[in-house]
Amino acid sequence: MNTHHNAALPPDYHMHTTLCKHAEGTTQEFKQVARERGLPELCFTDHCPEPSGYDSKHRMSIDEIPAYYDLVKSQQDGTKPDIFLGIEGDYFPGCQKFLSNFLPRQPLDLVLGSVHYIKDWGFDNPDYLKMWESVDVKGVWKEYFSLVKGLVDTRFFDMIGHFDLPKKFGHKLRDKDMKELVQPILDHIAKSGMGIEINTSGWRRKVEEAYPSALILSLACERGIPITFGSDAHAPNEVGHEFEKALLLAKEAGYKDSLRFRKRQGTRVPLP
Ligand SMILES: [Zn+2]
Ligand SMILES: [Zn+2]
Repeated sequence: MNTHHNAALPPDYHMHTTLCKHAEGTTQEFKQVARERGLPELCFTDHCPEPSGYDSKHRMSIDEIPAYYDLVKSQQDGTKPDIFLGIEGDYFPGCQKFLSNFLPRQPLDLVLGSVHYIKDWGFDNPDYLKMWESVDVKGVWKEYFSLVKGLVDTRFFDMIGHFDLPKKFGHKLRDKDMKELVQPILDHIAKSGMGIEINTSGWRRKVEEAYPSALILSLACERGIPITFGSDAHAPNEVGHEFEKALLLAKEAGYKDSLRFRKRQGTRVPLP
């Protein structure tokens, strides 16, 4: 048992920059917090541009890609922690048009894939919270997981972001219903070789749980689905948020290792 006050933590592989228009702080400040909290490495994964105009309020434009890479590379200066370059792409029907050409040409270490919309409903956006009052919650989860299946089938992405995001405001399913819906999709993910992240931002939301839940994580572990850890930081003080708790959650689910990413290749390394 490590009794140091600063126990070793896994890398933080999910964070944003001001280019997405809803984050704050400099990449230098993100790195500074990571250093103070003892994180071994960081990967920035800002929201990927989408020239179709999809959700343009929450992402950089394609013209800003060089500025994004410069912001990240400015911190790759040989000092610790090591900084890597990633992106968070959105899956939606039609995303193939741009992403199939764009993503393979980028010098990225990691590509997260996330679902933030069901049709034109940004179901995790507090501005559209009211919509939850008029929907069948289990039906929403079904639609969400069918989109996640679409995400997996594109093969564009390395890891799935905030896997059970529809619970953000507390719209959870009973364990029995969740198992019924989630097991087929987890089987599908296991076959694909993709992984899922433990995203600690859920602990900052109404649901007060990490994504995914302990239940889903143990079902993922049984299937050998690999994990990474991400704070989904949109501000410097969120970097590495609740990583001790996330590490414990992973271990309790049965995990012994997580992935380290370089040039989109994941390697299993033992958990700290
Ligand atoms: Zn964001
Ligand atoms: Zn996201």
